[in-house]
Amino acid sequence: MYEGIAASRGIGIGAVCRIEEHDLTFDMHQVEDVAAEKQRLHDAVKRFKEETTEMAEDVRKRIGPKEAAILEGHLEMISDPAMVGEMDKMIDSRQCAEAAATAVCDMFINMFSSMSDELMNQRAADVRDIKTSILKLLLGIEDIDISKVAPGTVLVARDLTPSMTSQIVKENVAGIITEIGGKTSHSAILARALEIPAVLSVPGILDQVHDKDTAIIDGTEGQVFINPEGDVLSTYIRKREDYIRKQGELRKFYGKDTVTADGKKLELFCNIGTPKDAKKAMECDGEGIGLFRSEFLFMNSSHLPSEDEQFEAYKEAVETMQGRAVIIRTLDIGGDKDIPYLHLKKEDNPFLGFRAVRYCLKNADAYKVQLRAIMRASAFGKVKIMLPLVTVVDEIRAAKALVADIAKDLEAEDIDFDRNIEVGCMIETASASLIADKLAKESAFFSIGTNDLTQYTMSVDRGNPHVAYLYSAFQPSVLRSIRNIIKAANEAGIPVGMCGEAAADPLMIPLLIAFGLDEYSVNPVLVLTARCIISKWSVEEAKALADKVMELDTEKEIVDLLKASAKEL
Ligand code: PEP
Ligand code: MG
Repeated sequence: MYEGIAASRGIGIGAVCRIEEHDLTFDMHQVEDVAAEKQRLHDAVKRFKEETTEMAEDVRKRIGPKEAAILEGHLEMISDPAMVGEMDKMIDSRQCAEAAATAVCDMFINMFSSMSDELMNQRAADVRDIKTSILKLLLGIEDIDISKVAPGTVLVARDLTPSMTSQIVKENVAGIITEIGGKTSHSAILARALEIPAVLSVPGILDQVHDKDTAIIDGTEGQVFINPEGDVLSTYIRKREDYIRKQGELRKFYGKDTVTADGKKLELFCNIGTPKDAKKAMECDGEGIGLFRSEFLFMNSSHLPSEDEQFEAYKEAVETMQGRAVIIRTLDIGGDKDIPYLHLKKEDNPFLGFRAVRYCLKNADAYKVQLRAIMRASAFGKVKIMLPLVTVVDEIRAAKALVADIAKDLEAEDIDFDRNIEVGCMIETASASLIADKLAKESAFFSIGTNDLTQYTMSVDRGNPHVAYLYSAFQPSVLRSIRNIIKAANEAGIPVGMCGEAAADPLMIPLLIAFGLDEYSVNPVLVLTARCIISKWSVEEAKALADKVMELDTEKEIVDLLKASAKEL
């Protein structure tokens, strides 16, 4: 058995098709005819653009706009005059087109990968993909046509580039295994969109398999079996049937209210990162947006987005949601999220540093641009403002004062906005949790960010594998914190949601029901699963379980009891 990253859920069984890496070595030489060499490069770039445009259109139709945007991003990069301009300059100094394309792409790859940020690393992967495609065109190398693979094929590759993935015919590909790539890599995003089970980052797998080997992929657990022995195959055939049946049953929850077994109505919202994701939230039957991570707007740009650029993005999400609530979180940068053009100073402890609402309040002019854009978007639906990383009451007061100032300006300028726009805060620090009663007096709502709450409660860097064993929202301290926050909100009579990953965890859901959580905000693809699990628990039954859980001393005891008490989907 091989293990990797569980990137796209489900069980896939099929015959291996290895996707070999091409040999892209070329003869480095000085060119005589500079003009002809430039023409050769420009022809390759033109063909690359044509093919990518075609693929993007096809992906938009077959898969969706978000996935097409990956290819459109490639087009944007190669259309940047700086890129081909630099290559031309190198040809001017008599380098061949292949050498020019390689050197310029490598420069961008090094620049992007030197930034310790997943999004920037993804950009590096994009440029790598562009480089490979241009070199293939220059060297006349034809790719294997993935669109022609037989039904029941398991693709095994070092990495699946977006251009390869976009050719996948969903009906024919039973699974995907790669040697590199994480949960947020493009291969993962596309695999999930196509609902093809995928396990990524399985080291050396390409050398372990032959074409036509039988492969089993468990995309939920991140496991791969090659030529399985004994009863492994029959076990997984059963598991696959089970999975498909359960997925079918989940469809019954589409269009239904989110209610516990004894009829308590709850809200089931979605977490999104871009305005386009709002469409996905609607398709997946989300009842609103519980967290719009606005920083992606800033990270996908080379400059501070203007008020109008932000307004258009927020408005798009708000209009897509057709009157359902959209909670927009103001800029949450710093920590693991860097934005190069803001030139944030390097800090020894970035997670404890000058970030999120702390940075925004000290840069009030830029913050007001964002708040104004959000408030203008509030004229088009039901918008709420949410502050990240709050630790003291002053922060919410200061943000509300800015909102009040902007409201006056908008009135004076006769610009429409929701005069009752709510300002709430994320409760994701130990401090906020301990003063939840005080914050509740100032906030219109709470949303618990368990990803950070766990980090700050446990004193565990959420990205550090050495201390990952302590990073669990099921630790007794984190559970107490969650319970206290919900209690404070309930007592103050304000709604309380959760937008951290724990909100969708089947083991956590009964505890949240017991504690009295009102709103669950989850990844769109998990809406129906969460609704199904909520429907299985009555408040009384959940409370009985929570009482036992809260008596236990260790995370392991808690998880074991929750697993033993879990309901079948
Ligand atoms: C959280 O901290 O739980 C959260 C939802 O925010 P992020 O993961 O963006 O920090
Ligand atoms: Mg957070």
